[in-house]
Amino acid sequence: MAIVIEDIIDVNNPTIQSICWGCKNAWPRKCDWIANEKRVWKRAYRKTFSSSTNKKYVGYIVQECKFYVPEPEKGARK
Ligand code: SF4
Repeated sequence: MAIVIEDIIDVNNPTIQSICWGCKNAWPRKCDWIANEKRVWKRAYRKTFSSSTNKKYVGYIVQECKFYVPEPEKGARK
């Protein structure tokens, strides 16, 4: 499976969010990405963060994943 990673140009764009935030499988026992950083997703944006000590971190904002299962809407019946 080919993985597509795109660098974010506008790092301050608040509208880009990872689908993992709304994924029912976002638990270490259910997702290898959460547990082991194994790239199970198909497409993500890459974003570089700086800490207060100027150490650089790379984060991935997942956009496509075949294991994505949407969380039920809050207040919706199960
Ligand atoms: S979208 Fe994919 S990578 Fe993200 S938490 Fe769900 S299963 Fe894991």
